[in-house]
Amino acid sequence: MEYENKSNTAAPSPTERCNTSKESANYSADRKNYSTDSANYSADRKNYSADSNDGPGSPLPLSKSGEKSAADKERKFDERYLRMADIWSENSYCTRRKVGALIVKEKMIISDGFNGTPSGFENVCEDENGLTKPYVLHAEANAITKIARSGNNSDGATLYVTASPCIECAKLIIQCGIKRVVYGEHYRLTDGIDLLRRAGIQVDYIDKTKL
Ligand SMILES: [Zn+2]
Repeated sequence: MEYENKSNTAAPSPTERCNTSKESANYSADRKNYSTDSANYSADRKNYSADSNDGPGSPLPLSKSGEKSAADKERKFDERYLRMADIWSENSYCTRRKVGALIVKEKMIISDGFNGTPSGFENVCEDENGLTKPYVLHAEANAITKIARSGNNSDGATLYVTASPCIECAKLIIQCGIKRVVYGEHYRLTDGIDLLRRAGIQVDYIDKTKL
C-alpha cells in the first residue's frame, strides 16, 4: 500500500489516514535532511571506502588527473547496484508499481527481491478494484526472507532498493542487521526512513531517474 502514489484516488489506508495531518510538514523537513545527506555524501563515502579492494597495501586514493578517487569509485558501485535493482523490478507482476531490491555484502550480491505475492500464489498483485492485495510482499521483504532460506546472512550488508522503504520493511531491515540502505525514489511518507535513521542505519538517496 505504501508504494501507491499520490495520484491514487482510492480511499486512504488506515496508516495513511493517521499520517495525513503531519505528512506535508514531515516531508519538507525530510527533504532538507536529504539535501544535507547529499552534501555529506562524498565525505561519508571516503570513510566507507577506507577498506576498498584496491589490493593489500595499495595507496588510497589515487588523485592524478583523470583517475577516480576511492569515493568516486564507491559512488559508481552504488549507482550500478541501484540500476541493477531497477532492472530487477521489471520482474514484478504488479501493475501499480514495480520495486526491486538487492542485498550486497562484501561486494557480493547475496539476495534480490521484487514486490509480489508469496510463493505459490497467483502472480496478480491487484484486486478487481485495482487495489494492491494485502498479502503482497514488498521487494525488501522478499530479498530479506530469501536470505532466511539460504546459507547467507545479512549482518552488515547494504540494501539497494528502488523506492523509499515503508515502515514495515524498515523494521525487517533493522532486525536482519543491514547497516546501510541506498534508495532511488522518495515517497511522501518518511516514517520508514526515519525509523532506519533512528536505528543508526546509514541511509543514502540516489535519484534513480538520473542513472
Ligand atoms: Zn515495504
